[in-house]
Amino acid sequence: MIQFPAGMVWLVGAGPGDPDLLTRKAERLIRAATVVFHDALVGPGVLELVPAGVRLVPVGKRSGRHSKDQSTIDGLLVEAALAGERVVRLKGGDPAIFGRATEELEACRMAGVPVAICPGITAASAAAAGLGRSLTLRGMARKLTFVTAHARAGEALALDWPALADPAQTLAVYMGKAAAPEIARNLIAAGLPAETPVALVENASLPDERRLLTRLDLLPLAAQAGLGSGPALLLIGAAMAGEAASPVQAAAQALA
Ligand code: SAH
Repeated sequence: MIQFPAGMVWLVGAGPGDPDLLTRKAERLIRAATVVFHDALVGPGVLELVPAGVRLVPVGKRSGRHSKDQSTIDGLLVEAALAGERVVRLKGGDPAIFGRATEELEACRMAGVPVAICPGITAASAAAAGLGRSLTLRGMARKLTFVTAHARAGEALALDWPALADPAQTLAVYMGKAAAPEIARNLIAAGLPAETPVALVENASLPDERRLLTRLDLLPLAAQAGLGSGPALLLIGAAMAGEAASPVQAAAQALA
């Protein structure tokens, strides 16, 4: 039984976009809600599951175009819960991975509003599935690091480059498209070989998913020339080595 009394908030992982990648629990919560606050990244197919008559409120943030700041969103969730609504806060992927979940959890707890998390499939898992590859690789990628390359406007990325330049790991870089040149330059400077395999996956799990395989020194070029305006994940490391995974990709490479 799912606990969802009036006045409660659920932070629900919407997964990477494909509605078939939603958990059954997420779907049940969405159907039981009286109001749904959602991110820009939540797939249209997922939003279609929200029953007619349920208030659907976009509070999306896309890089550089923040439509509502975080404290405004926190306030909206608390206000709706205190008004007796059953509140779903739908977030792309997993709410606990680069999803600002802590602010929302704390705002609810401070206000005495019961709050819980329903996990979702994160973008890195969907990207690996699209590539037909494993994120870890026995003996060669024993470590998987999720890192965000989102920096405040005008600031350099403050990342621990020597730690990230470990050749025995897979780096899953979220929000890394704009910072691709900086990422490649810093990782190479910190000792990661220029030929380290890199995969870029845009719109993972959606009909317009795009996959590119390249190498670290060519990452900036690939990110600039090969990606569109959708969300994209960078996967860096030996686990991304080898032939194109899918027949579609193989055909694209043969034509290139
Ligand atoms: N909580 C989310 C991540 C939010 S940060 C999760 O667990 O997936 C937003 C970043 O996630 C985007 O900039 C992009 O790097 C990545 N992302 C989200 N959805 C994606 C998708 N369908 N395909 C590729 N990358 C995606």
